[in-house]
Amino acid sequence: MTRVIAIANQKGGVGKTTTTVNLAASLAAMKRRILLVDIDPQGNATTGVGLEKHGQAVTLTDVLLGEAHATDILEELPNSSLHVLPGSPDVTTAEVKLMSRERREYHLRDALAPLLDNYDYILIDCPPSLNMLTVNALVAADGVIIPMQCEYYALEGLSALVGTIERITQTANPKLQVMGLVRTMYDPRSNLARDVSEQIHAFFRNKVYNTAIPRNIRLAEAPSHGLSVLEYDKGSRGALAYLALAAEVLRKDGSKLAPEGEQAG
Ligand code: ADP
Ligand code: MG
Repeated sequence: MTRVIAIANQKGGVGKTTTTVNLAASLAAMKRRILLVDIDPQGNATTGVGLEKHGQAVTLTDVLLGEAHATDILEELPNSSLHVLPGSPDVTTAEVKLMSRERREYHLRDALAPLLDNYDYILIDCPPSLNMLTVNALVAADGVIIPMQCEYYALEGLSALVGTIERITQTANPKLQVMGLVRTMYDPRSNLARDVSEQIHAFFRNKVYNTAIPRNIRLAEAPSHGLSVLEYDKGSRGALAYLALAAEVLRKDGSKLAPEGEQAG
């Protein structure tokens, strides 16, 4: 069954895009069929996997406004089971136009519906805001993964996101769940990071992934080459961390590590 996952946190720079790209690449490396959807107008996930965000005649904006099909913009990455719905700066106009549309919260869900059967996981990289694009992602999703940095005010910022998720479960999308929180740029030697990490565990309990993503320069370098960290440096700590996170996501999801029809070697 397809799982649609929104990677969300309205705070910028917490590792949403890094997590989306590298979790997508890791799940694809584990032979899952993955679709990455880049609804952030900044388009960092799109360039991060080596695609152009400019220049197409038809963009995600047209798809969100119901004027094109998702398949019209779908890109397949070579040598991978990773497909992408690329982002585009003009998605900001979609955000504005959606406000006056009927069923404005459902447009992404409707656009993805015909594609669901083609994928095991659909990962949506959200913008750093709780705007209508993020709401569309949360309405389209089964689960939310929340990347967060263990610093002061990190938890405070989360209450608005958790509030939005609760509101959406009461209205447009009752099945939506917080799948997990992933600690990013984590330094276990920092007292502050450890303190905040404890607070997060106290609050979110078993929703915190055991895997914390360390601060790793390879993760920051990889996007400038248009590569996931697995392609850029597969032995790096960043790559190993995202593979471990992917394994944990699969395990929590009750999915075997080897895809259906294949036995783990
Ligand atoms: P967001 O999408 O939440 O705005 P990004 O994923 O773009 O956040 O990350 C913000 C910046 O931090 C980027 O420059 C990214 O390369 C860098 N970064 C993210 N995660 C790590 C990490 N674990 N180690 C080092 N740099 C990271
Ligand atoms: Mg981002």
